Amino acid sequence: MRSFPGRPTAEAIPDVLIVGGGVIGCSIAYHLALGGARAQVLERDYLAAGASGVAAGMLAPQVEAPFDDPFFALTLLGRAEHAPLAAALLDDVGLDVECRTSGILRVAMDEAERVELQRRMRWQTARGLRAEWIEPTELGDREPLLAGVAGRLLAGGLWLPDEGHVRSPRLVQGLATASVKRGARIAEGAWATAFELDGDRVVGVRTPTGVMRAGTFVLAAGVWSGDLARSAGLSLPVGPVKGQIVTLRALNRSPRQVIWSGECYLVPKVDGQVILGATEEDGNYDRRPTLAGMGHLAEAALEFLPLAGGFTVEGMWAGLRPAAPDRYPIVGRAPGRDNLILATAHFRNGVLLGPLTGRWIADFIRGGTLASELAPFGPERFAGASPSQGLEARRADLPGRAE
Ligand SMILES: Cc1cc2nc3c(=O)[nH]c(=O)nc-3n(C[C@H](O)[C@H](O)[C@H](O)COP(=O)(O)OP(=O)(O)OC[C@H]3O[C@@H](n4cnc5c(N)ncnc54)[C@H](O)[C@@H]3O)c2cc1C
Repeated sequence: MRSFPGRPTAEAIPDVLIVGGGVIGCSIAYHLALGGARAQVLERDYLAAGASGVAAGMLAPQVEAPFDDPFFALTLLGRAEHAPLAAALLDDVGLDVECRTSGILRVAMDEAERVELQRRMRWQTARGLRAEWIEPTELGDREPLLAGVAGRLLAGGLWLPDEGHVRSPRLVQGLATASVKRGARIAEGAWATAFELDGDRVVGVRTPTGVMRAGTFVLAAGVWSGDLARSAGLSLPVGPVKGQIVTLRALNRSPRQVIWSGECYLVPKVDGQVILGATEEDGNYDRRPTLAGMGHLAEAALEFLPLAGGFTVEGMWAGLRPAAPDRYPIVGRAPGRDNLILATAHFRNGVLLGPLTGRWIADFIRGGTLASELAPFGPERFAGASPSQGLEARRADLPGRAE
């Protein structure tokens, strides 16, 4: 990855100062720069040092959606953003972010899953989306690795041809490079230690080398956002859900598309690497992969794809998904802080939602109006709520929950 080392400079005060050089921060910088604003990103370590550097990069709203709700609508819009962005980045900075509409095959391990996945197929097709049921004996036609007995032992599969994936660190790199080309500044090794306030307004960000001023500030520091929010007098309930990934290589044949069971997924990347992910470990801040993580993923993969036993192991990654108690993003103006925007807690969907979030936050900063689709995901929903409030409780709060 190309780096953008350097101290944040105070010579020209930026219009917008963004804390965090992950997919969210870099996408916001990119869209601000496209619109001619002077953006400055402060990244404590290096670009994509957080979750964005280890994500599997799936663009997969349909496969995980149990029902239609505002979040599902948001993720569909997020998916649509990627192919045009990938083409624009290729054209602009010559970087292929490996965005591919490979489709996803979600296999059913048993009868209960078959019933549930067929239910999802019905409401999704009724909504005009493409989704198709594949019987066990036909799974091998869709995915040669499931030919014969391997496929027949499963209870069928849901084929979602419009899902895909992107190489997440390359996406961050492309966004950052294109931002810099348009005048944005990116400082790596630049640690924001606290916000400085004057009354209700944020006036600066403290760093070890001085205070950075700006007109507007964006907090996009992933799982670490809560620490900085506290310095602005805010309580932001964002915590880690650790995810581990094993990287594999197929000696003969790679999966033709993403294959997903209830417990794990295999994502075939453009260069032949196959990503096996991912664990979900709530509250774990330790970013080191573990043997238990590897064991869990291996067992889950072999259960539905015995041929994966012949894949060789290349390596292992782990990262921290930034998650709110309800597992929805936190995007919008910080309560009581007019010029501080929050963009975090994208949990399992930050890569999917990064480009759209970046465009809408940039529009918000320029024009003062936040896209109405983001209304259910504002920070004010936590006012007075216990940070331990669970996913189901919040899901029930969202308007429009229906099949
Ligand atoms: C194993 C795994 C698999 C995943 N798979 C997918 C997937 O398939 N599809 C999908 O859409 N999403 C996926 N995700 C989720 C996705 O990675 C995240 O939602 C997304 O990367 C969050 O982006 P972010 O920019 O908010 O945070 P991050 O990428 O964590 O970036 C935050 C950045 O802020 C910097 N920072 C923190 N504190 C400071 C500070 N004080 N000063 C300066 N900089 C600071 C950090 O160094 C970091 O670089 C996955 C995540 C994991 C862990």
